[in-house]
Amino acid sequence: MPTDHVLVVHGGAWAMPDDMVDAHIRGVNNALAVGWRVLERGGSALDAVEEAVVVMEDDETFDAGRGSFLNRDGKVQMDALIMDGATLRAGGVGCVERLRNPVRAARKILSESPHVYFVAEGAEKFAAEHGLPLCKNEDLIIPREVERLRVYQAAQSAAKPDGNHLFAAEETASDDDTISHDTVGAVALDRDGNIAAATSTGGTLNKAPGRLGDSSLIGCGCYADNLSAAASTTGWGEPIMKLVLAKWTADRIAAGNLPEWAAKEAMNYLKQRVNGHGGIIVLDSAGHIGIAHNTPRMAWAYRTTQKQDAGVVRDT
Ligand code: ASP
Repeated sequence: MPTDHVLVVHGGAWAMPDDMVDAHIRGVNNALAVGWRVLERGGSALDAVEEAVVVMEDDETFDAGRGSFLNRDGKVQMDALIMDGATLRAGGVGCVERLRNPVRAARKILSESPHVYFVAEGAEKFAAEHGLPLCKNEDLIIPREVERLRVYQAAQSAAKPDGNHLFAAEETASDDDTISHDTVGAVALDRDGNIAAATSTGGTLNKAPGRLGDSSLIGCGCYADNLSAAASTTGWGEPIMKLVLAKWTADRIAAGNLPEWAAKEAMNYLKQRVNGHGGIIVLDSAGHIGIAHNTPRMAWAYRTTQKQDAGVVRDT
């Protein structure tokens, strides 16, 4: 018997200002619509999360694809991962600079390579050899981000010692009002009962060149296993990867807990154990969903055959 399909997406967890709420809701809803069409036609969860993430990579609102944050050298450097819960096959790219849609390269790795993870030029070469066009790094840079980096670096002499303030609730400094943390992700359940997850990011503002965050690391920013759950995280990556948070959450679900509870617990654990801030979306192969964040806001949207909703605060 076919399973009822489900799709959940997120567009980053942070102290999103009021004037950016509409763009985020629009963005996650657009991604939801495209991914949902795939599922409705009987497509796979893997295809649905890829297509949903591509929509958000193409949307400059988010920190993924064009419009990503710039690193310390003023370049876009992106990471992405996609994972199939049916087979545990995964594809990841790290520190890519010339791909408009890093998740497409990740998918090619999953589907067409014996390897799981490629970085930098090697990842771009693999993508080009498998039919994906390469762009210039400048094609991914938008004026908003050039200005954001300029302001941030100018203010940095008085800098705070770690990156946690970028995601924290106590943010009041004027420079941080404009800083967004808009990694994107999706988790899906298809009619065959398979789940999948994908996450894509430009990383954190002013990061050191070569810095890799949690987003593209298996079990940290993304994970999928039919026997536990599909999860995608967002937030300051260093604490998240120390806890292998997506897998930690999936393990709680494998142990019999509902995704809703596990997502909330993951956020408590992140805060209590390493003072981390972020958000997570989770889905199990029975169609139960979890959406949680410990930042003031996180853009999210979900759809089931019964219900559809979106928002920037999840408090249930
Ligand atoms: N987790 C991402 C990173 O640290 C950033 C984000 O979620 O916005 O690279």
